[in-house]
Amino acid sequence: MKVKIKLIILGHFSHSLNIDKVKKWQSELFEITEVDRHNIVGDSDGLNWEFLDENIENQLPIRGNADILVAVTNVPIQANYFARRFTDNRVCVSYNSIAEILSYNDIPLENLLLRVLYSVSFVFRRYGNRMPLMNEQTNFSHDETRGCIFDMDGLKTDIIYSTYKPQLCSSCIHSLTNNPIANNRIANNLIGKVQLELKKIDKGLYYQIADWIKNNPISAIIISSLTAIVLGTIGSVVASFIYEKIQ
Ligand SMILES: [Zn+2]
Repeated sequence: MKVKIKLIILGHFSHSLNIDKVKKWQSELFEITEVDRHNIVGDSDGLNWEFLDENIENQLPIRGNADILVAVTNVPIQANYFARRFTDNRVCVSYNSIAEILSYNDIPLENLLLRVLYSVSFVFRRYGNRMPLMNEQTNFSHDETRGCIFDMDGLKTDIIYSTYKPQLCSSCIHSLTNNPIANNRIANNLIGKVQLELKKIDKGLYYQIADWIKNNPISAIIISSLTAIVLGTIGSVVASFIYEKIQ
C-alpha cells in the first residue's frame, strides 16, 4: 500500500513550482491523492517575520482521507526550518530562502518537495503509520550532509546536495530495514526501487550539459573544436556539391 499524500499550497506562492510534475510523479512509496490551495489568514508572529508553530498549525486544513497532509508555503517558519511536523500527520514545507538557493544552482524547485515527500513517507511507515510530533524524541535525520533525503541541512545551502539525484545513505537504509518492530520495517525491495526513483530527481538536460562543461572544460574545448572542424568540412563539401550542380 502506497502512502497517500494530500498536497496543499498554503498562501501566495510566487515561485515557479511545477506542482503538476510532482502530482504525476511515479513512486512505489507514495501517491498524491489531492492538490488544493489555502490562504494564509493573519500575519507572522515571530521576531524575524516567521510564522511560529501554533500560527502555522492554525492555518493548516484538516488532513481528510489522506495519510499525510503536506503544506507548501513561502513564508518563513519557526527556527528557519525548511520543514516542520504538526499534529494529525501534517507537515509544512517552506521555500523561504531555499527557492533562491535552488534557483542559483539550477535545481528545479520541485526537487525539494519530492525529497520531502520521500522522507515523510518513510518516517510515516517507520513510526507505525503516523508522523511523530516535533516534541517527540526522534533520530531519523543526521547532521552530516551525505546527499541523503534525511540530511538535516542545518546550513541551508547544503540543501543542494540532497535535491539533485539524492539517495538513502547506508545508515538510513540500515535503520529503515532493521526497525525493532517488524511491522514498521521497510522491505529491501522497496528501498532498491526508491533508490532508483531518487536518481530521477535531477536537473533539466540543458543544466546537466552545462554542469558537465563546467566540470570538464578541456574536453569541452576539444569537442567544440572538433565539431567546428567537422561542420566546416561538411559545409565545404555541401558548397562544392551545390557549385557543381549549378555549373
Ligand atoms: Zn541518511
